[in-house]
Amino acid sequence: MTRVFHRQLHADYPVAVEGDGCYILDSTGKRYLDASGGAAVSCLGHSDPAVIEAITAQVRKLPFAHTGFFTNEPMEALAEALTDAAPGPLDHVYFVSGGSEAVEAALKMARQYFLEIGQPSRSRLIARRQSYHGNTLGALAAGGNQWRRAQFEPMLIEVSHVAPCYEYRDRRADETAEQYGARLAAELEAEILRLGPETVAAFIAEPVVGATAGALPPVPGYFRRIREVCDKYGVLLILDEVMCGMGRTGSLFAYEQEGIVPDLVTVAKGLGAGYQPIGAVLVHDRLYDAFRDGTGFFQHGHTYMGHATACAAALAVQHRLSEPGMMAEVQAKGAAVMDALRDRLGDHPHVGDIRGRGLFLGLELVADRVSRQPFDPAKRLHARLKKAALARGLMIYPMGGTIDGRTGDHALLAPPFILSEAQVGELVDKLAASL
Ligand code: PMP
Repeated sequence: MTRVFHRQLHADYPVAVEGDGCYILDSTGKRYLDASGGAAVSCLGHSDPAVIEAITAQVRKLPFAHTGFFTNEPMEALAEALTDAAPGPLDHVYFVSGGSEAVEAALKMARQYFLEIGQPSRSRLIARRQSYHGNTLGALAAGGNQWRRAQFEPMLIEVSHVAPCYEYRDRRADETAEQYGARLAAELEAEILRLGPETVAAFIAEPVVGATAGALPPVPGYFRRIREVCDKYGVLLILDEVMCGMGRTGSLFAYEQEGIVPDLVTVAKGLGAGYQPIGAVLVHDRLYDAFRDGTGFFQHGHTYMGHATACAAALAVQHRLSEPGMMAEVQAKGAAVMDALRDRLGDHPHVGDIRGRGLFLGLELVADRVSRQPFDPAKRLHARLKKAALARGLMIYPMGGTIDGRTGDHALLAPPFILSEAQVGELVDKLAASL
């Protein structure tokens, strides 16, 4: 009997004891290739010496100093590293302890920004149906995952949801990708007009959708049109890069590939790379200036924000991610995994789509490739695939049907950036055998 209140009370999970590069070892000595980076977290694998060294040094020097009294050295340095790396005037960073906290902070910052500039009627939020933004109540309300929301529905704030950019399922045969993106942006515009633009604070979206859709990239031009619509009505654009950011898609920030600058960007997961819990919100100068010239106080905060050890770990991670050639390596390895997957599973009768960017890849599983009909959700195919893979020593991140049971099962792959060629082979072999 375990005393741990695990999220799955009846699951018989192995006990993880050791990390070794791209592998995790359990208490029986079994090795698991971490092809999901946990949940797109462990971008540097599980034993990066530079990160371990940085954490150890910081813990010895100063583990924690409360932000009610101080900033701290690694926090200042990390803010500088992140803002220097982020294209556009996103020159300020608000630190928290994880992804949901980052989303909560961004949503509240959007609301307070409009108070600071004298537009108190703006508080409404718009998000997308195929999205996950976290499990705290505000982030859950923003997310579109019906299964996660269902039992908490009476507790959730009202958030409007528009269609995601889901080319495999939703682009019409008579439509170019460009036209499809324009149609989706028009849907956002219609929703803003329906709510009344003077009441809308922000639109939030994941640049590449992760946990609910298996690495779903946008069509070219989609985010440029979304940015135009937001600008037209004075609505803030929040991009949630908690999962797809920090180099995962082959650029440090996923939005770099969209040719736009958002107003707020949330990051977490790969920011601390699993070595420490940390999240952050990158903030556009326009917003920061409004707070500075207004009340000078953001009405929000957490005890562990800007945690010195967590910031030291994340700073060491940033140094690794900014090494010359690192992003090119993610792109090249991503292409190698994608090629191997297409080669091996492209004709599989139950693999409907293989997609993604960089080392952020997804498989969509279907009962029928031609009709794209998903499996009956009661079969829980994604859970069975996860179990079959674990039995073979492979970690993949599974997801079940999320929108009206329409989209079926996915498997997300987000291996560490240090994945070797041999490990690409191991990943695809084990995944094919599990399928
Ligand atoms: N946003 C996105 C896009 C995510 O994928 C996640 C986690 N899967 C979160 C927010 C929430 O992050 P956390 O689990 O660290 O609270």
